[in-house]
Amino acid sequence: MIRRLVIAAMLVLVAVPAAQAQVATPATGAPTDTTAPTAQQKVVLPLTGRTVVIDPGHNGGNTSNHAITQRQVWAGTIWKDCDADGASTDSGYNEAQHNWDVAVVVRQLLRQQGARVVMTRASNTGVGPCITQRAALGNRVRADAAVSIHADGHNNGDFHGFHVILPADVGQGSRMVARSRELGIAVRNALRDQGPTQTSNYIGENGLIVRNDLGGLNLSKVPKIFTEIGNMHSPSDAPQIESVAGRQAEAAAIAAGITRFLTKRRA
Ligand SMILES: [Zn+2]
Repeated sequence: MIRRLVIAAMLVLVAVPAAQAQVATPATGAPTDTTAPTAQQKVVLPLTGRTVVIDPGHNGGNTSNHAITQRQVWAGTIWKDCDADGASTDSGYNEAQHNWDVAVVVRQLLRQQGARVVMTRASNTGVGPCITQRAALGNRVRADAAVSIHADGHNNGDFHGFHVILPADVGQGSRMVARSRELGIAVRNALRDQGPTQTSNYIGENGLIVRNDLGGLNLSKVPKIFTEIGNMHSPSDAPQIESVAGRQAEAAAIAAGITRFLTKRRA
């Protein structure tokens, strides 16, 4: 008799599949199961809910469309060309391409952190947009941070290294200027610590300079900076600018600086 009961119990256990046995059947009308599988949970990343504008300077079509790019626009303090051609390395790798190549990686890295990333241009085959529109886009999407990506071009090959350009206060408001400085310092620190080039030996101080002649900064209402990763005519900077590894290091540093700026506790 005892043996029969044991056998019957074993049959019952075997008859219930293991997976089915672990599923909790909610009572009718019960609230949705709060212990949903991990894959269905909304993951909150460090930059979830933040908007970043990435502005790859210049454009691949600018050099052959000067009728468009040389139209004069008000840059906040002076009249300037709508957009410029940009620099180039001695072997012909041009700045517009560099800026685009880096921007795409920065976008990818920031998206991985949860950010919404808005680019000022959709490819490297177009013209412009004008510097006024590049600034207006950041204002329109109310960007938490905006970074314009560039490389410098100076004929003296002994000049090398990166610098970050901060806005002068030309009417954007003290908060925008102060926040831009914080953003600039965060990106400068990241470029100094993990970027592909040294701190500039020819412009600014400790990799920072304030300028009042750039429409992208003068017309911005949101925190905005420019990065200039190096001198494209420098024998030490050019190989970094031309290489995938160099641009990867540049993009990683820019993304790290932006992330640091957006996640650190405010003083
Ligand atoms: Zn440039």
